[in-house]
Amino acid sequence: MKFGDLELYILSDGTHTEDGGGMFEYFPKDIWANYKVESKTPYKPDDHNNISMASNCLLIKHPEGNVLVETGIHDKTRNYVKYHNIVKKPSLMESMKSAGFRPSDIDLVINSHLNPDHIGWNTVCVDGKLKPAFENAKYLIQKREFKTALNPGFELKNDYFSVEMDIIPLEASGNLELIDGEKEVFPGIFLVPTPGHTRGHQSVIIKAEQKTMLYAADMAAMVMNQEKPRCKMAFDALGREECWMTKKELLYDKAAENGWFTYFYHEPSFSIGIINKIANARGETEYKVRKVENQL
Ligand SMILES: [Zn+2]
Repeated sequence: MKFGDLELYILSDGTHTEDGGGMFEYFPKDIWANYKVESKTPYKPDDHNNISMASNCLLIKHPEGNVLVETGIHDKTRNYVKYHNIVKKPSLMESMKSAGFRPSDIDLVINSHLNPDHIGWNTVCVDGKLKPAFENAKYLIQKREFKTALNPGFELKNDYFSVEMDIIPLEASGNLELIDGEKEVFPGIFLVPTPGHTRGHQSVIIKAEQKTMLYAADMAAMVMNQEKPRCKMAFDALGREECWMTKKELLYDKAAENGWFTYFYHEPSFSIGIINKIANARGETEYKVRKVENQL
Protein backbone atom coordinates (compact mmCIF):
# COMPACT_ATOMS: atom_id res chain seq x y z
CA MET A 1 0.00 0.00 0.00
CA LYS A 2 1.08 3.58 -0.64
CA PHE A 3 2.35 5.74 2.21
CA GLY A 4 3.34 9.10 0.80
CA ASP A 5 6.08 8.34 -1.73
CA LEU A 6 6.82 4.99 -0.09
CA GLU A 7 5.30 1.58 -0.58
CA LEU A 8 4.56 -0.51 2.54
CA TYR A 9 4.02 -4.26 2.78
CA ILE A 10 2.75 -6.14 5.83
CA LEU A 11 4.57 -9.47 5.82
CA SER A 12 3.22 -12.11 8.18
CA ASP A 13 5.46 -14.67 9.82
CA GLY A 14 2.47 -16.63 11.10
CA THR A 15 0.99 -16.77 14.58
CA HIS A 16 2.04 -17.83 18.05
CA THR A 17 0.71 -17.61 21.58
CA GLU A 18 1.82 -15.81 24.70
CA ASP A 19 0.58 -15.87 28.27
CA GLY A 20 -2.17 -13.24 28.50
CA GLY A 21 -1.22 -12.10 31.99
CA GLY A 22 2.36 -11.55 30.81
CA MET A 23 1.20 -9.22 28.04
CA PHE A 24 -0.84 -6.92 30.26
CA GLU A 25 1.01 -7.26 33.56
CA TYR A 26 -1.01 -6.08 36.57
CA PHE A 27 -4.22 -5.33 34.66
CA PRO A 28 -6.92 -7.72 35.91
CA LYS A 29 -7.71 -10.61 33.61
CA ASP A 30 -11.32 -9.51 33.52
CA ILE A 31 -10.24 -6.31 31.77
CA TRP A 32 -7.82 -7.68 29.17
CA ALA A 33 -9.81 -10.83 28.38
CA ASN A 34 -12.86 -8.72 27.56
CA TYR A 35 -11.01 -5.76 26.05
CA LYS A 36 -12.60 -4.55 22.83
CA VAL A 37 -10.63 -3.77 19.69
CA GLU A 38 -12.78 -2.87 16.69
CA SER A 39 -15.79 -4.30 18.63
CA LYS A 40 -14.15 -7.74 18.96
CA THR A 41 -12.33 -9.29 21.95
CA PRO A 42 -8.96 -10.37 20.49
CA TYR A 43 -7.34 -11.20 23.85
CA LYS A 44 -9.77 -13.95 24.94
CA PRO A 45 -7.43 -16.60 26.38
CA ASP A 46 -7.52 -20.35 25.78
CA ASP A 47 -7.58 -22.97 28.55
CA HIS A 48 -3.87 -22.36 29.22
CA ASN A 49 -4.37 -18.60 29.60
CA ASN A 50 -2.65 -18.06 26.25
CA ILE A 51 -3.67 -15.38 23.79
CA SER A 52 -3.09 -15.29 20.06
CA MET A 53 -0.27 -13.09 18.75
CA ALA A 54 0.90 -12.03 15.31
CA SER A 55 4.43 -11.43 13.95
CA ASN A 56 3.78 -8.93 11.19
CA CYS A 57 7.07 -7.66 9.75
CA LEU A 58 7.05 -4.40 7.81
CA LEU A 59 8.73 -3.99 4.45
CA ILE A 60 9.33 -0.41 3.32
CA LYS A 61 10.08 0.16 -0.36
CA HIS A 62 12.09 3.37 -0.25
CA PRO A 63 13.70 5.12 -3.26
CA GLU A 64 17.12 4.36 -1.70
CA GLY A 65 16.43 0.69 -0.99
CA ASN A 66 14.24 -1.90 0.68
CA VAL A 67 14.00 -1.89 4.46
CA LEU A 68 12.71 -4.85 6.44
CA VAL A 69 11.59 -4.10 10.00
CA GLU A 70 11.84 -7.26 12.16
CA THR A 71 12.39 -10.77 10.86
CA GLY A 72 9.70 -12.84 12.55
CA ILE A 73 9.80 -15.37 15.36
CA HIS A 74 12.64 -17.78 16.12
CA ASP A 75 11.78 -21.39 15.26
CA LYS A 76 15.18 -23.08 15.36
CA THR A 77 14.59 -24.36 18.92
CA ARG A 78 11.99 -27.09 19.27
CA ASN A 79 10.92 -26.32 22.85
CA TYR A 80 10.33 -22.68 22.04
CA VAL A 81 8.15 -23.59 19.03
CA LYS A 82 6.15 -26.02 21.16
CA TYR A 83 5.72 -23.70 24.13
CA HIS A 84 4.58 -20.77 21.96
CA ASN A 85 2.50 -22.85 19.53
CA ILE A 86 4.31 -21.26 16.59
CA VAL A 87 2.52 -21.80 13.28
CA LYS A 88 4.20 -20.26 10.24
CA LYS A 89 1.33 -20.18 7.81
CA PRO A 90 2.56 -18.19 6.04
CA SER A 91 6.21 -17.73 6.96
CA LEU A 92 7.99 -14.42 6.39
CA MET A 93 9.79 -15.89 3.38
CA GLU A 94 6.49 -17.02 1.83
CA SER A 95 4.91 -13.62 2.51
CA MET A 96 7.90 -11.89 0.97
CA LYS A 97 7.71 -14.03 -2.15
CA SER A 98 3.99 -13.31 -2.55
CA ALA A 99 4.77 -9.59 -2.34
CA GLY A 100 7.34 -9.98 -5.14
CA PHE A 101 10.60 -9.69 -3.18
CA ARG A 102 13.58 -11.99 -2.79
CA PRO A 103 15.74 -12.05 0.37
CA SER A 104 18.61 -10.62 -1.69
CA ASP A 105 16.46 -7.53 -2.46
CA ILE A 106 16.64 -6.34 1.16
CA ASP A 107 19.16 -3.53 1.83
CA LEU A 108 18.51 -2.82 5.49
CA VAL A 109 17.12 -4.99 8.27
CA ILE A 110 16.02 -3.30 11.48
CA ASN A 111 15.61 -5.35 14.67
CA SER A 112 13.83 -3.35 17.38
CA HIS A 113 15.52 -5.54 20.00
CA LEU A 114 17.05 -8.98 20.30
CA ASN A 115 14.34 -11.11 21.90
CA PRO A 116 13.73 -14.32 19.91
CA ASP A 117 10.31 -13.28 18.59
CA HIS A 118 11.80 -10.40 16.55
CA ILE A 119 14.93 -11.91 15.01
CA GLY A 120 13.80 -15.34 13.78
CA TRP A 121 14.77 -15.05 10.12
CA ASN A 122 17.95 -13.07 10.67
CA THR A 123 19.84 -16.21 9.80
CA VAL A 124 19.20 -19.42 7.89
CA CYS A 125 21.03 -22.72 7.95
CA VAL A 126 23.00 -23.43 4.75
CA ASP A 127 25.05 -26.68 4.61
CA GLY A 128 24.95 -26.94 8.40
CA LYS A 129 26.14 -23.35 8.93
CA LEU A 130 24.13 -20.33 10.01
CA LYS A 131 24.33 -17.49 7.48
CA PRO A 132 22.53 -14.15 7.08
CA ALA A 133 19.13 -14.76 5.45
CA PHE A 134 19.37 -11.32 3.83
CA GLU A 135 22.87 -11.54 2.45
CA ASN A 136 23.03 -8.04 0.95
CA ALA A 137 21.58 -6.29 3.98
CA LYS A 138 23.06 -4.34 6.83
CA TYR A 139 21.35 -5.35 10.06
CA LEU A 140 20.82 -2.29 12.24
CA ILE A 141 20.78 -2.89 15.98
CA GLN A 142 21.39 -0.59 18.91
CA LYS A 143 24.84 -1.05 20.41
CA ARG A 144 23.35 -1.02 23.88
CA GLU A 145 21.01 -3.89 23.01
CA PHE A 146 23.85 -5.91 21.50
CA LYS A 147 25.96 -5.45 24.62
CA THR A 148 23.09 -6.50 26.89
CA ALA A 149 22.36 -9.52 24.71
CA LEU A 150 25.98 -10.69 24.95
CA ASN A 151 26.04 -10.33 28.74
CA PRO A 152 22.42 -10.55 29.87
CA GLY A 153 23.14 -11.83 33.37
CA PHE A 154 21.00 -14.29 35.28
CA GLU A 155 17.73 -12.35 35.17
CA LEU A 156 17.65 -11.67 31.41
CA LYS A 157 19.38 -14.80 30.11
CA ASN A 158 16.24 -16.47 28.76
CA ASP A 159 15.18 -13.31 26.92
CA TYR A 160 18.27 -13.57 24.73
CA PHE A 161 18.68 -17.34 24.41
CA SER A 162 18.63 -17.30 20.59
CA VAL A 163 21.32 -14.63 20.11
CA GLU A 164 24.01 -17.22 19.46
CA MET A 165 21.98 -18.50 16.47
CA ASP A 166 20.25 -15.35 15.22
CA ILE A 167 22.83 -12.59 15.82
CA ILE A 168 26.38 -13.86 16.25
CA PRO A 169 26.64 -15.25 12.67
CA LEU A 170 25.87 -11.71 11.38
CA GLU A 171 28.85 -10.34 13.20
CA ALA A 172 31.10 -12.96 11.66
CA SER A 173 29.80 -12.24 8.13
CA GLY A 174 30.16 -8.46 8.49
CA ASN A 175 26.43 -7.78 8.07
CA LEU A 176 25.90 -6.32 11.53
CA GLU A 177 25.92 -2.56 12.05
CA LEU A 178 25.69 -1.24 15.59
CA ILE A 179 23.87 2.07 16.02
CA ASP A 180 24.55 4.39 18.92
CA GLY A 181 21.38 6.43 19.60
CA GLU A 182 19.17 8.20 17.06
CA LYS A 183 19.87 7.84 13.37
CA GLU A 184 18.21 8.64 10.05
CA VAL A 185 19.02 5.52 8.03
CA PHE A 186 17.37 6.57 4.76
CA PRO A 187 15.76 9.99 4.22
CA GLY A 188 12.64 10.01 6.42
CA ILE A 189 13.36 6.72 8.22
CA PHE A 190 14.56 7.29 11.77
CA LEU A 191 15.72 4.90 14.48
CA VAL A 192 14.91 6.15 17.97
CA PRO A 193 16.04 4.53 21.22
CA THR A 194 13.01 3.60 23.35
CA PRO A 195 14.30 1.88 26.50
CA GLY A 196 11.70 0.01 28.54
CA HIS A 197 10.86 -3.39 27.11
CA THR A 198 14.61 -3.90 26.87
CA ARG A 199 17.46 -1.57 27.71
CA GLY A 200 18.56 -1.09 24.10
CA HIS A 201 15.11 -1.24 22.47
CA GLN A 202 14.58 1.01 19.43
CA SER A 203 11.49 2.16 17.56
CA VAL A 204 11.18 3.41 14.00
CA ILE A 205 9.63 6.67 12.78
CA ILE A 206 8.69 6.79 9.11
CA LYS A 207 8.03 10.17 7.51
CA ALA A 208 6.76 10.34 3.95
CA GLU A 209 5.41 13.54 2.45
CA GLN A 210 2.89 14.84 5.04
CA LYS A 211 2.46 11.51 6.84
CA THR A 212 4.23 10.05 9.86
CA MET A 213 4.09 6.51 11.19
CA LEU A 214 5.46 5.18 14.46
CA TYR A 215 6.58 1.60 14.66
CA ALA A 216 6.67 1.37 18.44
CA ALA A 217 7.53 -2.36 18.52
CA ASP A 218 7.30 -3.77 22.05
CA MET A 219 7.23 -0.35 23.69
CA ALA A 220 3.44 -0.82 23.29
CA ALA A 221 2.96 -4.15 21.54
CA MET A 222 -0.81 -4.52 21.34
CA VAL A 223 -3.65 -2.03 20.92
CA MET A 224 -4.46 -2.25 24.64
CA ASN A 225 -0.80 -1.51 25.54
CA GLN A 226 -1.06 1.68 23.44
CA GLU A 227 -4.51 2.82 24.52
CA LYS A 228 -3.93 2.37 28.26
CA PRO A 229 -0.96 4.50 29.38
CA ARG A 230 -0.15 2.28 32.38
CA CYS A 231 -0.49 -1.00 30.54
CA LYS A 232 2.97 -2.51 30.14
CA MET A 233 4.13 -6.10 29.85
CA ALA A 234 5.38 -8.30 32.66
CA PHE A 235 8.23 -9.20 30.27
CA ASP A 236 9.54 -5.61 30.19
CA ALA A 237 13.11 -5.56 31.49
CA LEU A 238 12.89 -2.04 32.92
CA GLY A 239 10.45 -0.77 35.52
CA ARG A 240 7.13 1.01 35.35
CA GLU A 241 8.52 4.54 35.57
CA GLU A 242 11.09 4.07 32.81
CA CYS A 243 8.52 2.43 30.52
CA TRP A 244 6.10 5.27 31.19
CA MET A 245 8.66 7.99 30.41
CA THR A 246 9.45 6.43 27.04
CA LYS A 247 5.80 5.88 26.16
CA LYS A 248 4.75 9.35 27.23
CA GLU A 249 7.33 11.15 25.16
CA LEU A 250 7.07 9.33 21.87
CA LEU A 251 3.67 7.65 21.83
CA TYR A 252 1.49 10.16 23.65
CA ASP A 253 3.19 13.57 23.40
CA LYS A 254 4.13 13.09 19.76
CA ALA A 255 2.15 10.33 18.02
CA ALA A 256 -1.22 10.85 19.75
CA GLU A 257 -1.00 14.66 19.76
CA ASN A 258 -0.25 14.76 16.06
CA GLY A 259 -2.47 12.00 14.72
CA TRP A 260 0.38 9.74 13.65
CA PHE A 261 -0.19 6.30 12.21
CA THR A 262 0.99 3.40 14.35
CA TYR A 263 2.16 0.00 13.19
CA PHE A 264 1.68 -3.15 15.28
CA TYR A 265 3.89 -6.20 15.01
CA HIS A 266 2.07 -8.41 17.54
CA GLU A 267 -1.56 -7.23 17.48
CA PRO A 268 -3.71 -9.95 15.88
CA SER A 269 -6.60 -7.61 14.92
CA PHE A 270 -4.77 -5.34 12.48
CA SER A 271 -1.34 -3.83 11.79
CA ILE A 272 -1.92 -0.18 10.93
CA GLY A 273 -3.95 2.22 13.03
CA ILE A 274 -4.06 5.86 13.96
CA ILE A 275 -3.71 6.94 17.58
CA ASN A 276 -5.74 9.81 18.98
CA LYS A 277 -6.23 11.44 22.34
CA ILE A 278 -9.71 11.13 23.85
CA ALA A 279 -11.38 11.93 27.18
CA ASN A 280 -12.95 9.07 29.12
CA ALA A 281 -16.24 9.29 31.04
CA ARG A 282 -14.43 10.87 34.00
CA GLY A 283 -12.86 13.52 31.79
CA GLU A 284 -9.37 11.93 32.02
CA THR A 285 -7.09 11.65 29.02
CA GLU A 286 -7.04 8.26 27.33
CA TYR A 287 -6.14 7.08 23.87
CA LYS A 288 -7.92 5.30 21.08
CA VAL A 289 -6.39 3.46 18.15
CA ARG A 290 -8.53 3.22 15.04
CA LYS A 291 -7.81 0.74 12.27
CA VAL A 292 -6.91 2.47 9.01
CA GLU A 293 -5.15 -0.30 7.18
CA ASN A 294 -7.10 -0.05 3.95
CA GLN A 295 -7.46 3.72 3.88
CA LEU A 296 -3.93 5.11 4.02
ZN1 LIG B 1 7.84 -9.14 20.92
